[in-house]
Amino acid sequence: MSWEQDLSARIRADVDLKELVTVRVGGRARHLVVPQTADEVGALLRALTAEGRPWRVLGGGSNVLPPDGVLDDVIVHPKALDGFEVAGDRVHVGAGLPTPRLVALCSRAGLAGVHVLAGVPGQVGGAVAMNAGTRHGEICDSVERVSVRLADGSAAELSPDDLAFDYRHARLPEGAVICGATLRLWPVDDTSELRRTVGCYLKERNEAQPTRTWNFGCMFKNPPAPEKTAGVLLDLAGLKGLSRGGARISPIHANFVENVDDAKAADVLWLLQEAEQRVLARSGLQIEREVRTW
Ligand SMILES: Cc1cc2nc3c(=O)[nH]c(=O)nc-3n(C[C@H](O)[C@H](O)[C@H](O)COP(=O)(O)OP(=O)(O)OC[C@H]3O[C@@H](n4cnc5c(N)ncnc54)[C@H](O)[C@@H]3O)c2cc1C
Repeated sequence: MSWEQDLSARIRADVDLKELVTVRVGGRARHLVVPQTADEVGALLRALTAEGRPWRVLGGGSNVLPPDGVLDDVIVHPKALDGFEVAGDRVHVGAGLPTPRLVALCSRAGLAGVHVLAGVPGQVGGAVAMNAGTRHGEICDSVERVSVRLADGSAAELSPDDLAFDYRHARLPEGAVICGATLRLWPVDDTSELRRTVGCYLKERNEAQPTRTWNFGCMFKNPPAPEKTAGVLLDLAGLKGLSRGGARISPIHANFVENVDDAKAADVLWLLQEAEQRVLARSGLQIEREVRTW
């Protein structure tokens, strides 16, 4: 039996990629699969591997630029794995739990650690895969174990050492799908103080970043030991406000590209490439993309 027959109830065909990514560009995906359990993720990967079908994992789509055309790769979308369970100073969370919900639930439970992610969109799986963070901290500071399904369908538990977390990076085995994580947090006495801190972080972001347009957050990583952030380097290269088709580089924050008028992925890609070239010419630095271009 093929994977399509095996998991037919979980498959959506001919899916509009725009609906799945926060920058709202892209064409169509032939197949999107929404497994309901980690075992279903395993069964799917085992079947895809056996049939030689490539796949990609999509979480909240807040750091992905899909192509304009038709994507043949199967999209694995573990959004239904969205559990949340507190056990003392630990929480067990599903990969599909939205990160803002994780922040809210932990704050309410008086558990600090992931409050540093206030305002970061996406899902827990994507946050772990990208080692999401802010200037207040990163998710790797709270990760104790990560449950994955490997390309052959088997289950594995990975430690922070296995994942070799780095700035906006985790080392995942090829094709692995994160299904959940155990986070170790620290209990606080004053829950209202923790919630106030989350509120301040959100306010900070809303003042510094574009919040009313479709985008995928920062296009580029900050250079290592930065004298200047990627945003400053892009600003110095005169990129603020540069546009192509329906996409433009934000006039507020040069590291954000925005979809302002039904942009194509090609418009966004052109701006990314133009930004790379102009920064290289102006500052002699090759900036690295944070966004994953598919
Ligand atoms: C307005 C805005 C602000 C942002 N601010 C920040 C910020 O302050 N800090 C920050 O770090 N990021 C920020 N981002 C980027 C983004 O939100 C984070 O990187 C986020 O953690 C990505 O999660 P996601 O679920 O959306 O991942 P996706 O975009 O869906 O995927 C990102 C990558 O992770 C992989 N992936 C996703 N889920 C899984 C899984 N379950 N198993 C294996 N691999 C997986 C995907 O294959 C892809 O390579 C921002 C984005 C936006 C739109």
